[in-house]
Amino acid sequence: MIITTGNSSGLWGLRSATAAEVAWLDALSEALPIGGELGYCGSDYADDGTTVTAVYLNVGGLVRANRIFDSPFGKYAGGDNLVLVATDPSQAHYLTDIRATCFFSAFTYLGRAADEAGDIWLFGSGRCELCSGLLATLPDFVSSVCRTCATNCPHTFEPGIIQGGGLTERLGEVCSRCHAGRGLPDDFDLTDREHRLRLVRARVGISAVIDRNTGEITRADDD
Ligand SMILES: [Zn+2]
Ligand SMILES: [Zn+2]
Repeated sequence: MIITTGNSSGLWGLRSATAAEVAWLDALSEALPIGGELGYCGSDYADDGTTVTAVYLNVGGLVRANRIFDSPFGKYAGGDNLVLVATDPSQAHYLTDIRATCFFSAFTYLGRAADEAGDIWLFGSGRCELCSGLLATLPDFVSSVCRTCATNCPHTFEPGIIQGGGLTERLGEVCSRCHAGRGLPDDFDLTDREHRLRLVRARVGISAVIDRNTGEITRADDD
């Protein structure tokens, strides 16, 4: 597939380079309404483990109740499958962003256009919760908020779960408006049961703990 992008704005264009891709894009136009999301079925990675070399996509299939693992497409029954690869190696880096869009947001069909080079199918990421602009970067996808809104947010931090590098989770504070996360301050007293309890409540909804040594009860809403 020939892949183009609009200045990292969360917009991509796909142009067919093979007969199979022509058929898949035609099937996509039939199966998906504008604004519809493509089904994501996984990716292939280069030896570095992070650079994406292929993205597995499905349109028009039904999500199986019991996923069949014998194929990357086994999550879907029916529909039309595509292994999205970059025909031009200089465009291969777009696949990493497309995979992040699929995984954290939604690879969304925006319609079909034409120019002197022929037909082009347009796709975008999900949209910002605050301004409805397209999401463009990994932090956008994780938070569902664009960088402009995140940068301008006055932030109201509350105890919560934050995502670290490598998609790990840890305890910290999260802005209730833009979902930006920050770690606990270096001098934070990690023996503070009240704070830790709030984190647990943010995660699983538990609102009180009993100290098994003293019987003391701490409630998350005891302010
Ligand atoms: Zn925004
Ligand atoms: Zn914020």
